[in-house]
Amino acid sequence: MKKRICILGSTGSIGTQTLDIVRANPDRFEVYALCANRSVELLSEQAQEFHPEVVCIADEQYYEPLKTKLSSLDCKVWAGANAIADVVTFPSVDIVVAAMVGYAGLKPTIEAVKAGKTIALANKETLVVAGEIICELAHKHHAPILPVDSEHSAIFQSLAGETHSEIEKILLTASGGPFLNYSLDQMATVTAAEALKHPNWDMGAKITIDSASMMNKGFEVIEAKWLFGVPVEKIQVLVHPQSIVHSAVQFTDGAVKAQLGAPDMHIPIQYALTYPERIAGDFPRLDLFKTRDLLFQEPDLKRFPNLGLAYEATRRGGNIPCVLNAANEVVNLAFREGKCGFLQMSDIISATMDKIEFIKKPIYEDYVQTDTIARRIANELL
Ligand code: MG
Repeated sequence: MKKRICILGSTGSIGTQTLDIVRANPDRFEVYALCANRSVELLSEQAQEFHPEVVCIADEQYYEPLKTKLSSLDCKVWAGANAIADVVTFPSVDIVVAAMVGYAGLKPTIEAVKAGKTIALANKETLVVAGEIICELAHKHHAPILPVDSEHSAIFQSLAGETHSEIEKILLTASGGPFLNYSLDQMATVTAAEALKHPNWDMGAKITIDSASMMNKGFEVIEAKWLFGVPVEKIQVLVHPQSIVHSAVQFTDGAVKAQLGAPDMHIPIQYALTYPERIAGDFPRLDLFKTRDLLFQEPDLKRFPNLGLAYEATRRGGNIPCVLNAANEVVNLAFREGKCGFLQMSDIISATMDKIEFIKKPIYEDYVQTDTIARRIANELL
């Protein structure tokens, strides 16, 4: 039986790499639905190639152009956030690849979890914003959440055959991004173009900026907490500029298991799609003879305060991680548009976290409201 896949964010970096895997394994996978934000051109090319049942565009103003382009295809064309939240629940869908960018991924992911779908999760913001709700629902509806993020896939692979009670520590690696060795003075004047040149990974613009500011790693600490049920005090970030050790787990007997590989997202994506099987793939191989040094160092929280803010947000709990995410989405975009300095991003996030009204046990509607208010505050602070 082929697995039928619904891809949220099919035109992005994770989405296109997911389709590479589908293309290479037509006997295993079939695309049921493709959803994108607004890249009509690429979305319609993908639809022509993979013949999904449903094609969805989030931004409704692109509905007519998309419909016209797909007029010769026998598929449903839908638009809007509600349509996307609907399609993930269809009985024919086996796996939902959640690869939308940011907060927009929350609603469809919640709906997919409620429908008991297997989630291949790339959209870490979903767990940052509402990890508690998502995990409760996943448990209740027996919806497995499989990590696509390379670090979390590495932890997940290291945990195969283990029980979570044996975890002493999670060792979460970070490349450190392009500014790893910059001074604070240098960091004050860096531009978006410089931040977008990631040394090891080829990713979308938003996450590349988050990597440069290490907010991505802060989010990944929170993501690991929810995925593996480990308190953040047991999650240690190690800067590892080579991006070869994708992360590791230290067990209570002192043994450490890690997963290594070339920095290529196809491997964790494919593992999530085929889990619990591991199938062949012709992705780049790691040559340990050419891998000379594997270096590890402690992150510098003075130059990368976002990492500290993420720990603080998760310690404060409630709606504060949601604020962290919302403010970060505002400043990340502002930085890319040249409206905010690199270091200023952390100042605004921190100030927004302090100004928001604290909600200890938020329900979904509280997150929606917190997101709106936090964005307004962050925008006012710009
Ligand atoms: Mg990652």
